[in-house]
Amino acid sequence: MSFQYVREMPTVEDILTSIPLSRDLAGIKKRRDGEIISVFRGTSEKFILIIGPCSADNEEALCEYVSRLARLQEEVRDKLILIPRIYTNKPRTTGEGYKGMAHQPKPSEEPNMVKGLKAIRKMHIRAMGESHLTAADEMLYPPNYPYLEDILSYVAVGARSVENQLHRLTISGLDVPAGMKNPTSGDIEVMLNSVQAAQIPHVFVYSGWEVKTSGNPLTHCILRGAVDQNGTAIPNYHYESLSRLAEAYKKRGLQYPGIIVDTNHANSNKKFHEQPRIAREVMNSRRDSRTLRQKVKGLMIESYLVEGSQQISENIYGKSITDPCLGWEASERLVRDIAEMA
Ligand code: PEP
Ligand code: MN
Repeated sequence: MSFQYVREMPTVEDILTSIPLSRDLAGIKKRRDGEIISVFRGTSEKFILIIGPCSADNEEALCEYVSRLARLQEEVRDKLILIPRIYTNKPRTTGEGYKGMAHQPKPSEEPNMVKGLKAIRKMHIRAMGESHLTAADEMLYPPNYPYLEDILSYVAVGARSVENQLHRLTISGLDVPAGMKNPTSGDIEVMLNSVQAAQIPHVFVYSGWEVKTSGNPLTHCILRGAVDQNGTAIPNYHYESLSRLAEAYKKRGLQYPGIIVDTNHANSNKKFHEQPRIAREVMNSRRDSRTLRQKVKGLMIESYLVEGSQQISENIYGKSITDPCLGWEASERLVRDIAEMA
C-alpha cells in the first residue's frame, strides 16, 4: 500500500464550531428549504434554476457572481427560485486535472484537503451571507456531507457517481431535494434505480457509526445528456425524452416524480452558448404538455462572470477553469426570458 497519511482530518464538530453558521443564516436556510421543497412537492408553481459556474474555484469571483444572482432573484421572485451552483468538488473523467476547492483552495497550488474543507465551508457561508440565497453542491464524497449539511438547500449526484451504493444510501438520509443525474451512458433505468434506492430507508455504516435513514422522498432525476460508444453526445432534453421519463416514472410509482434538465454537459455537447436555446425549448415543452409542466421542476445552467473557459494559468477573474460557461450578460437575459416563459 502506497498510502501516506498526510494530515488528520478535523472532525465535523471541529469544523462546524470553528466556522459556524449564524442563527440568522440558519433561519434564512430554513425558509428557503421550505420554498424549494414546495416546488418538488407540487404545492408551489415556481420554477427552479440551479445556476452558476461548473466549479467554484475562487471565493471572490464566486461571491460576486452570487451577489449578482441575488439582485436578479428579486426581479424574478414571483416566478423563479434561483439556487446558486456552488460546486466545490469536481469529478474528473480520467482522474486528472483540478478536483475542486475541496482539494485545492488555490487551483495553482498543491492539494490540501484540510484547508480545502475549511475553505469551502467559509465560501459557502460568505456567499449565503452576502446573497441570502442558499446553494446547491455536488455530493462527490458522501462522507464529506456533514461538513456542509447545515448549508446546502440542494444536492446533486453526478453522472459518474449515480450507480454507487454509498451515494444512494447517503442521499436517503437527507431532508433536502436531491437530484440523481443520468449516467454518462444515458441509461434512464440506472437513474431511476438510484432515485428509488434513495427514496427508501436504509441501515449502513456512516461516519464511523451504524446509521438508519428514513428515505428521501424528494430525490428526483436530472437529465444531462449522454455520450455513445463513439463519443458522440446524445441530448435528452427534447420533448420525447422528457415524455419517456415521465412515463417511466409512472411505472415505478415513485414519490414526487420531478425532472431537472441540465442544459450543458452532454445536452449542449459543452457548447455553452447553446444553453439559452435548450432552456427555451424545455420551457416550450412545458407549455405543450400538462404532464411535463407538472414534472419538469427546473433547469441546471452553467454560468459565470466571463463566458467560456480557460487554462488555470491564464488566471482570468470569473472565467471557468472546468466546463465552459455562459457569461453574465447572456445569463441575465436568459433568466429574464425563462421568467417570462415560466
Ligand atoms: C457538473 O455538474 O459539472 C458535472 C460534472 O456534471 P456531470 O456529473 O453531469 O458530468
Ligand atoms: Mn460542468
